[in-house]
Amino acid sequence: MTKEEEIPDWVGAKEFYDKYEPKEILGRGVSSVVRRCVDKRTSQEYAVKIIDITPSDKMTSQEIQEIKEATVKEIDILKKVFGQDNIIQLKDCFESKVFFFLIFDLMKKGELFDYLTEKVTLSEKETRKIMRALLEVVQYLHSQNIVHRDLKPENILLDDDMNIKLTDFGFAVQLEPGQTLKEVCGTPGYLAPEIIECSMDAGHRGYGTAVDIWSAGVIMYTLLAGSPPFWHRKQMLMLRMILAGTYEFSSPEWEDRSDTVKDLISRMLVVDPRQRFTATDALNHSFFSQYVVDEVRQFTPYRKFKVICMTVLATMRIYCNYRRAKPVTKDVIKSDPYAVKPIRKLIDACAFKIYGHWVKKGQTQNRAALFENTPKTILLSIVAEGDEPTHHIW
Ligand code: ADP
Ligand code: MG
Repeated sequence: MTKEEEIPDWVGAKEFYDKYEPKEILGRGVSSVVRRCVDKRTSQEYAVKIIDITPSDKMTSQEIQEIKEATVKEIDILKKVFGQDNIIQLKDCFESKVFFFLIFDLMKKGELFDYLTEKVTLSEKETRKIMRALLEVVQYLHSQNIVHRDLKPENILLDDDMNIKLTDFGFAVQLEPGQTLKEVCGTPGYLAPEIIECSMDAGHRGYGTAVDIWSAGVIMYTLLAGSPPFWHRKQMLMLRMILAGTYEFSSPEWEDRSDTVKDLISRMLVVDPRQRFTATDALNHSFFSQYVVDEVRQFTPYRKFKVICMTVLATMRIYCNYRRAKPVTKDVIKSDPYAVKPIRKLIDACAFKIYGHWVKKGQTQNRAALFENTPKTILLSIVAEGDEPTHHIW
């Protein structure tokens, strides 16, 4: 007789192990492990989020109770949002006294976070596709009074066709009409100013769905620049930057970005939540009306002709500008190689190839350190955060 059969409280766990075979770990959270698993009958692959609430020295009984309640809430919200495009689907769920098993579709392409680390920065076109899907999901959630509270690239997964699937509803809540929240939760770099204010002022009026728009703005900035808008090695200083809404479009990556995209980001990263764009405002912004395929299809023959003429003229202009471009001389490369775009891209890509595995997630996220332009700072900032370098550099 196995241990599971002796203990009736393990019934849920036994049901899970009877039906699925757990495989390698895909990701980890504070109290959960996500593994690939295979349905023994159909051989179909899934992802299982295993939430362990076994009593241990590491957790007090109150913490265990809190995790249990939070998981029940997470399951409840996942059931409410079931069937929405771009949201991960909860396929099945098993519960025992000390474990929860949540079965999801497997997203083989993993997290947007890792995709960005591989690509360093994304184009405006790719950012548009991702952000449109994300904001549509946020628009839907907010229409149901659901606030996610932990939007970040680690919680955005990619399916086989590179469509996003929002996951991790661990902090999500459905608000009653007029209800505001005061609880401080989320991930430091993505926290909206009003959440931080709540932690400092007991009399604060609280926060609502607008916190997700702030986080979406941080994500959008990060996708285009490769590094987040608010980051400092000292977390206190980073929180101060957030409270003041101090960020810049100053890194070289922003030189090639359109004013339209900067305008949209700046309307999402507004400190006062009442002045901040809603998801609908953001989706109506002109950044999302560019390159709409439908519009192209509705062209009359005259408009088609005009577009062809304009394309030819634009191509000529680009070609002439290209011919006039200053040659990249040895001196330019020696004095400021980072100023030359292809070289800058190459340097960044190489840095991410070598140090990408040190780019940490969550609390101690240090992606920005890879963009600090002096080699010593990069090494020190990463090593200072506790990782032993696996090979010697610089
Ligand atoms: P936590 O609440 O602990 O952060 P998440 O639900 O965010 O848990 O899952 C943790 C990580 O596990 C994710 O960031 C991702 O890397 C991986 N993961 C979660 N769900 C899936 C899935 N359906 N397919 C592939 N990987 C997943
Ligand atoms: Mg997560």
